[in-house]
Amino acid sequence: MTPSFAENLARLDARIQKALARAGRNDRVQLIAVSKFHAQQAVEEALTAGVRVFGENRVQEAAGKFPPLQRQFADLRLHMIGPLQTNKVAEAVRLFDVIQTLDRPALAKALAKAFEKGARKPDLYIEVNIGAEPQKAGVLPEDLPPFFESCRAEYGLTPKGLMCIPPAGQPAAPFFQQMRRWADRLGLLHLSMGMTADFEEAIACGATEIRVGTALFGQRPPVP
Ligand SMILES: *Cc1c(COP(=O)(O)O)cnc(C)c1O
Repeated sequence: MTPSFAENLARLDARIQKALARAGRNDRVQLIAVSKFHAQQAVEEALTAGVRVFGENRVQEAAGKFPPLQRQFADLRLHMIGPLQTNKVAEAVRLFDVIQTLDRPALAKALAKAFEKGARKPDLYIEVNIGAEPQKAGVLPEDLPPFFESCRAEYGLTPKGLMCIPPAGQPAAPFFQQMRRWADRLGLLHLSMGMTADFEEAIACGATEIRVGTALFGQRPPVP
């Protein structure tokens, strides 16, 4: 039998606690349950098991799944972890509590405009292309200090954290360590890194939030 969500969650939590202890950390790490491509029913099971923080990578999909659950669970927190187009910004600002993928000036500008218009201001994290991969979204490491500064000075935004997806097929730890140093250097409290394959290393390197899908929900169904 495939394990239940609650069993997966218990097993994952044990691994998180072990990784924290191994790293000599006595703080905690926030689990973000990545429910992309999974049906609303899977999210409901997660809520029943006590999970309140979720990650989705598409505005449209999240808009179809989450609003009724957000009305039912006042403490539900939804993180945007996928690429965000400027024409979806208004809807994203209404839907998400945290947008982790601020990665370019045009998006900063669109977010600033949406913040002026509406009452909601989700927390923002800057996505860093820590491996400087040409095909990947994110601000290049060397552009991070000027981009962070221009978010504040030009757009009146105050990013609160950083997120990354390290290059596939290489040890992740050196990239996670660089991310930790960037977060310290910019004085940012939130550091979102680590997925099913590498969250233990991310915890060892100082992640404050990990984004886990497969270890919780099982294999993702094909892209809808
Ligand atoms: C899908 C996704 C995850 C979760 O990946 P798993 O390997 O299933 O844990 C985490 N972060 C981002 C940005 C994702 O798109």
